[in-house]
Amino acid sequence: MSERVIPVLDQRVTALAPPAAAFAPATRLTADGLLTDSLGRPLRDLRISVTDRCNFRCSYCMPKEVFDKDYAYLPHAELLSFEEITRVAKAFIAHGVQKIRLTGGEPLLRKNIEALVEQLAGLRTLQGLPLDLTLTTNGALLKRKAAALKAAGLQRVTVSLDGLDDAVFRRMNDVDFPVADVLEGIEAARQAGLGTIKINMVVKRGTNAQEILPMARHFKGSGMVLRFIEFMDVGATNGWRMHDVLPSRDVVKLIHDAMPLVPLSPSNLGETAERWGYADANGQWDAAAGEIGAISSVTQAFCADCNRARLSTEGKLYLCLFANQGHDLRSLLRSQMPQTDLESAIGHIWQGRTDRYSELRSSQAPDSGAGLRRVEMSYIGG
Ligand code: SAM
Ligand code: SF4
Ligand code: SF4
Repeated sequence: MSERVIPVLDQRVTALAPPAAAFAPATRLTADGLLTDSLGRPLRDLRISVTDRCNFRCSYCMPKEVFDKDYAYLPHAELLSFEEITRVAKAFIAHGVQKIRLTGGEPLLRKNIEALVEQLAGLRTLQGLPLDLTLTTNGALLKRKAAALKAAGLQRVTVSLDGLDDAVFRRMNDVDFPVADVLEGIEAARQAGLGTIKINMVVKRGTNAQEILPMARHFKGSGMVLRFIEFMDVGATNGWRMHDVLPSRDVVKLIHDAMPLVPLSPSNLGETAERWGYADANGQWDAAAGEIGAISSVTQAFCADCNRARLSTEGKLYLCLFANQGHDLRSLLRSQMPQTDLESAIGHIWQGRTDRYSELRSSQAPDSGAGLRRVEMSYIGG
């Protein structure tokens, strides 16, 4: 038998037990009485991975050679149930979370995902408002599911799409999936009212950079926001090299030379994308033409405002996309712990957060990867 490459399960290191003092109320607070981490960052955004499986094999995320038929995905009993996810979500909301994104793996593969959406849509923030509830998908099942997701209370979707050219797209998803089906899924989402729709394009030099301008032209004026993401060194299986990263500033320049852009201010704190609007003949933003986003996860660190927590498919809390270990919330949930103790445990974990991987990477040599082993994107979600 040939030797297999880096099974991801090996990286799911044993969870940290919460500290003994974990059940006392957290003490690091903002002026409005809400929790902050050790660098003063509040907790606003929770990303929940609902499955570690996917029907695509994007080489930058779940390369076929690793995620093959022998790959050990989590057994069903290891996954958080919808009731457990909703309980954890409530505990995060108690600390100020206002936005929840469902992700994966491919979240639309999780059976009856609409039921989870419905439960989460019923929650209210500390301000008494509905959550900003969204989902990131590869779009393959969106045509079939868009209306039901909207009816269940989903507000928006982000669809990943790495090009419009069918051959390029089939190569990137590596399961020969046609681009036309994803475009139909996007249209179904638009018709269902799942907007503003965001489109995520991961740009890999030498692979799909030629798709940047066709994508920009296609989505200009569509009411959707196309966002370009730098190919990131997440996980340990995607063979990342700095050479394959096309910096966002080059992407913006390419588009600006063809369709002039003007900078827009961020719409909220902790926003990952730098916003650029299409300019009119007077050099002012033409709102009807819309905007693009540039997510410079590699070339420009945005850790200073990072207010995102990530919950893995089996209930581990990760404080950074590049973290190499998670905090086991599932065992707390399954220990019948009172909700207030669960809240306190989460508060203590967040209070101790010091993560700022991208900033640290910026100060290291390219390709160094800051010397850490990390969990896979498909396991904690993007
Ligand atoms: N399967 C869904 C999808 O593709 O939209 C949700 C999960 S996927 C892990 C979430 C996002 O992460 C996608 O937009 C994907 O393009 C992005 N992503 C995955 N691996 C990446 C990498 N190495 N660098 C940058 N973005 C990546
Ligand atoms: Fe699947 Fe999304 Fe990863 Fe592509 S990026 S392999 S669609 S989880
Ligand atoms: Fe947040 Fe970690 Fe990304 Fe920095 S590297 S922005 S801390 S997820």
